[in-house]
Amino acid sequence: MEFKAKLVTWDDIEKWCEEINKKMLKDGIPDAIIGLSRGGLVPARILSDMILMKNLYAIKTEHWGLTATVDGKADLKYGLNVSIEGKNVLVVDDITDTGQSMKLAYDYIKTLKPKSVKTSTMLHIGHSSFVPDYYAQFVTDKEWTWFIFPWNVYEDITNLSSKIEMKSSSVDEIVKKLKESFDLSVNHSVLGKVLMQMVHMGKAELKDGKYTYIQA
Ligand code: AMP
Repeated sequence: MEFKAKLVTWDDIEKWCEEINKKMLKDGIPDAIIGLSRGGLVPARILSDMILMKNLYAIKTEHWGLTATVDGKADLKYGLNVSIEGKNVLVVDDITDTGQSMKLAYDYIKTLKPKSVKTSTMLHIGHSSFVPDYYAQFVTDKEWTWFIFPWNVYEDITNLSSKIEMKSSSVDEIVKKLKESFDLSVNHSVLGKVLMQMVHMGKAELKDGKYTYIQA
């Protein structure tokens, strides 16, 4: 097995956001929420809904390139163009893995002179150098998994497909290869939709019901 990958469900997302919300409420409601684009956008939106918050902003960090591959150092791609001076802010991401993205965001947001900064992620991996104030689920280093969030299914499965031998393969064969290489359980119907989309995006070729990955 190359590494472990797992599909996260919308039910997981809802449960994890409810958990963060519960922990956050003990400290009080923030004045603004800042999501880290792209992974933190949906959790930030869900949390903002739970606390009836309209001050929802985003900044963009980049760290991991292709699925499960780190791209050098975490980088701040764009910042905020609204003032958060004197405000209590909550920074939201999906997962702290190395923790570099959250650390980068935290340090940047601190320079904008907020009154307080709290951080949250749904998942927090033990080896992370940054520990968020609120997280729903702790993942030990041994349990490290590439979590395929519902908003990243097409991108991640396309990237995983590039790592397996996908040459004139049926959907069933690809299901099997993804299981062998990544212990990934993906059903025929979900994979079928992603594969069709890969064909539309020029990432795969379909001939006689068999798919071939097209290397860029
Ligand atoms: P990091 O800077 O390593 O803490 O992670 C930066 C971003 O990469 C996270 O916000 C996620 O969007 C993505 N990421 C990192 N590790 C994982 C993982 N194990 N599963 C899914 N996404 C991840």
